[in-house]
Amino acid sequence: MTRALVLGGCGFVGGHLCERLLATGVEVISVDDLSTSAPNAENLLRDHVGYRFVRHDITEPLTAAAFPEPVDVVFHLASPASPVDYLRLPLHTLHTGAMGTVNALEVAERHGARLVLASTSEVYGDPLAHPQVETYWGNVNPIGPRSVYDEAKRYAEALTFAHRRELGTDVGVARIFNTYGPRMRSHDGRMVPTFIRQALAGEPITVTGTGRQTRSLCYVDDTVEGLLALARSGYPGPVNIGNPHEVTVQHVAELIRDLAGADSAVEFVAAVEDDPQRRCPDIAVAREHLGWEPRVPYRDGLARTIEWFRSSGAMPEFAVAQSKTAS
Ligand code: NAD
Repeated sequence: MTRALVLGGCGFVGGHLCERLLATGVEVISVDDLSTSAPNAENLLRDHVGYRFVRHDITEPLTAAAFPEPVDVVFHLASPASPVDYLRLPLHTLHTGAMGTVNALEVAERHGARLVLASTSEVYGDPLAHPQVETYWGNVNPIGPRSVYDEAKRYAEALTFAHRRELGTDVGVARIFNTYGPRMRSHDGRMVPTFIRQALAGEPITVTGTGRQTRSLCYVDDTVEGLLALARSGYPGPVNIGNPHEVTVQHVAELIRDLAGADSAVEFVAAVEDDPQRRCPDIAVAREHLGWEPRVPYRDGLARTIEWFRSSGAMPEFAVAQSKTAS
């Protein structure tokens, strides 16, 4: 791999991926419309040799004039991903999964590059099979509020495989499970940054529903390694990229409180519509075809993430940014 195009390169996972690619000597063209990125995310890597940022909405074509350089891999991570974002941007989310993925596949095909699609465990919906294997087709409400994200990703997967079948495009589909780590936005509505923000502010930690629903937590460095392993392989997927250690949401809330040294109460609030009750990947396919499995235990990853939130001073800045976007 000598040059990669990273769509959504200013997002949480995209930023870590670009950083890792640059560290291994791969040139990076990062494309992002900054619709859900953190403030100033476009400046994070600007001084790195071999890095170019292009502000562009991928629902518009990635033309040969604007993107002339050959690339080996197109990583398609562009999509609102947190509930706060996709509920705020429902049509943008659907359009990005649809037209955005068409444009991503076209630019990959034009360069003879491999397309790595960041799909999601949300394609399994509120799963009736457990743990989730790639052959499970999912249990998704096609018209509920979350459907804008779930169905956008399911359509993106369908499109990606149709491209492979009809045009022979080289593709790899990763179904990413909950990923967390430094540089998440404290108000993005996802579980880990929400609990950390509340714990560090000494506020009650709000758990939706009973707290007995489960999640699996994959540290961002592990997810990035999984995406790179998929890019280097010829495997089309879909392949689960996640941590197979299943934990209850209540346990995560209490652990974050304890790791943060806070004395926040854990409060239970109304359940979210169509919230999955159990979520845990079977990663046998990733182990076999990519030689990949996560390495960072969730306690260590959470401790690192809490430390980043504490030391970066990110919270007030991100809070301001969020209140601006919400207005
Ligand atoms: P993120 O919101 O931080 O990053 C997404 C980036 O895509 C943002 O920088 C945003 O500005 C950009 N973007 C959105 N629409 C765009 C468009 N039309 N054109 C150009 N750029 C656009 O989210 P993330 O957590 O980094 O997730 C990255 C990818 O991984 C997403 O596709 C997401 O669905 C997938 N994923 C993430 C997780 C997770 O836990 N973080 C889990 C499953 C799947």
